[in-house]
Amino acid sequence: MAKRVGFVGLGTMGLPMARNLLRAGHRLRGFDLDPARTRMLADLGGVPVSSACEAAQGAEVVVTMLPASRHVEAAVLGPEGILEGLEPGATLIDMSTIDPATTRRVEAAVRARGARMLDAPVSGGATGAERGTLTIMVGGDAEVLARHRDVLAAMGSNIVHCGAIGLGETVKLANQILGGTAMVAVAEAFAMGMRMGADPQVLLEVISKSTGSCWMLRQVPIPGLSEEAAVNRGFAPGFMVDLMRKDLGMALQAGEELGLPMTLTAVAHQLYGLASRRGYGRLDVSAVARLLEGPGEPLWGAPPNPSEGPARP
Ligand code: NAD
Repeated sequence: MAKRVGFVGLGTMGLPMARNLLRAGHRLRGFDLDPARTRMLADLGGVPVSSACEAAQGAEVVVTMLPASRHVEAAVLGPEGILEGLEPGATLIDMSTIDPATTRRVEAAVRARGARMLDAPVSGGATGAERGTLTIMVGGDAEVLARHRDVLAAMGSNIVHCGAIGLGETVKLANQILGGTAMVAVAEAFAMGMRMGADPQVLLEVISKSTGSCWMLRQVPIPGLSEEAAVNRGFAPGFMVDLMRKDLGMALQAGEELGLPMTLTAVAHQLYGLASRRGYGRLDVSAVARLLEGPGEPLWGAPPNPSEGPARP
């Protein structure tokens, strides 16, 4: 059944997710702080509106896909925010990766208004968002999820109920620990192998069928090696270095509160911070591999131009 959906945050992920909701027959009003992104919605058959509040008005479901906790707080609780427009009985589904404590705070405010909330962060990258094959990790009441599973099914093919509100975010952070450390490890493995004379094609072929196989293997920044690698498009994201730094920072914060040492996560977090300092913050996460290059000693594809930044896909 077609639903009235509000969508806030039409970036790398949000825009293709909104397109899939429209393709599934839902009616959609959307807003992004960047007017150019909001306008792009019209070409897809959606209705661009001029605030988060307006996107929420009259919607049965409001989806948010924003960078970090502070953006979700601003878009939901701030002036002209979603809470001002949210109908009692409506459901807010936050699909951003944010810290679970913020999720629970925002959920309390949404509940006080007589509406419901799910956290539903995703994995699968821009490709998964475009193909509608995201993994979606849901926290909140099973009954609310059952009611709006059709909306999530338009964007993802693997929808998992992880438990109470905030637990979707917790599971996502656990995934990010693996993705973030693996990207660094993949870069080190290829740098060493290639410097010792191994053919990168052979490295990829063997490791992808061996114990080292992982998702990030296909992101190794060697032009033409793997079709989906961001190096093929000048390191345009994909998933930005700064977003990975944010996610690992939240995982470390959780570890701190639990008294749980997370040594590898801490090292990887620092490396993404260094990459950001080099000007790679808005480039794809695989740009962290560039930290392994010596002066005048390129290892990977053509260097990106950090001052210009990548073209947005
Ligand atoms: P993005 O920066 O491309 O898009 C975010 C959009 O939100 C931007 O267009 C920005 O203008 C908009 N925005 C910021 N504050 C706003 C506000 N208050 N109101 C309205 N719009 C606002 O980021 P993205 O890559 O699409 O990531 C979004 C979320 O999804 C992040 O939490 C990220 O960690 C997560 N995520 C991203 C990927 C990926 O591969 N890119 C994969 C999984 C999860």
